Amino acid sequence: MNSMKAYRASILHFISEPTLDGGGVEFFDDGILLVEQGRVSALDSAEKLLPKIEQENIDLVDYSGQLIMPGFIDTHVHFPQINIIGSYGEKLLDWLNNYTFPAESKFSDQAYAQVVAEQFVQSLFSHGTTTAMVYCTVHPESVDAFFTTSSRYDACMLAGKVMMDRNCPENLQDTAVSSYEQSQALIDKWHKNGRSLYTVTPRFAPTSTPAQLAFAGKLLRENSGVYLQTHLSENVSEIEWVKSLYPDHENYLDVYDHYGLLSENSTFGHGIHLSDGELTRLSDTQSKIAFCPTSNLFLGSGLYDLARSEKFGVATSIATDVGAGTSLCQLQTLNEAYKVTQLQDYPLHSYQAFYWLTLANAKSLNIDDELGNFNTGKYADFIVLGSDSSSVFEYRYQLCQSLSEKLFLFMTMGDDRNIKHTYVHGECVY
Ligand SMILES: [Zn+2]
Repeated sequence: MNSMKAYRASILHFISEPTLDGGGVEFFDDGILLVEQGRVSALDSAEKLLPKIEQENIDLVDYSGQLIMPGFIDTHVHFPQINIIGSYGEKLLDWLNNYTFPAESKFSDQAYAQVVAEQFVQSLFSHGTTTAMVYCTVHPESVDAFFTTSSRYDACMLAGKVMMDRNCPENLQDTAVSSYEQSQALIDKWHKNGRSLYTVTPRFAPTSTPAQLAFAGKLLRENSGVYLQTHLSENVSEIEWVKSLYPDHENYLDVYDHYGLLSENSTFGHGIHLSDGELTRLSDTQSKIAFCPTSNLFLGSGLYDLARSEKFGVATSIATDVGAGTSLCQLQTLNEAYKVTQLQDYPLHSYQAFYWLTLANAKSLNIDDELGNFNTGKYADFIVLGSDSSSVFEYRYQLCQSLSEKLFLFMTMGDDRNIKHTYVHGECVY
């Protein structure tokens, strides 16, 4: 038997930013994706590839009637918070104190962290996500647990140990020096180990002393290619708090800027209440914002202004932010993103939406040379979507006249029941 494998279905991916008339969209109603040693070997119509498949005796998996697309990418998610998703009633700062911190304190226990990591990674796959940028907890054990699990599937994941040395329970505090040393040890162990990428992770300015943020900047300077993730301007009380803790800085972003945390490898969660000056600085440094609509609505944080960020040339990725986000499913995230943009007279088009979940999110993390679409040689990280999630979905799906209509249905009514299979590095993981 040939070592190649072929998958037959309707197949969609984006070769560049799509236009509303379908520019940048590549779609085969009856297509074949050819995979060799975990990477894309070819993509074309079934008519063109079937003779080769018969001639070379290539194993064919038939998903006809279903839709294959690149795996979704989630650029902001907290793995320990899978335990508190759907907790009632708080805004950001009380949410942290009442739900997040108690949940995260359990992760000093490696065995416990391992069990949750397994559950979390499996859940990402069952929701169609093959790559994510992930907050672990302050405990190095949580990072070991996460990367041990994700690397067993050879998944491309970005993650790091939360750095937090004040304004949180004592059992969740590191120190500026210990956070530096532990992060460095984790970078040495995990960064570019297989497909794992280390992400320096100060939770946000209020839970770090200036000394700790300085160490975060030092980690970035000393380890080229590592990433940074943190939170920025999510909530009005949070911004006031940052002002009182860092009175000498011009604005919230300036705190991070001062310590050298802005770069093309930096992703800032939320960015809802930014000034023109902050947006300009984000754009100048090619820093990214992760838009987390289900979280922003759930915590009552505000409406992210996508059009304004675009005007300033700031790249925005899209993310779940579980556990304040209410679903690990990026289809549900698009559903809420659409409503947020509708409220601002800027309705999100379905081509733009699915480009976002795949190639655009890959670009925002600078990993689009390896994944995000089906260009030859990229990792075969892909999902199979079906329309049989519910009788209403199936009925409405049959009435759709065009690809963009079908995609729009997936992003409004879709959920994890539409995710039939998930493949990572050419292997079926769900
Ligand atoms: Zn978050």
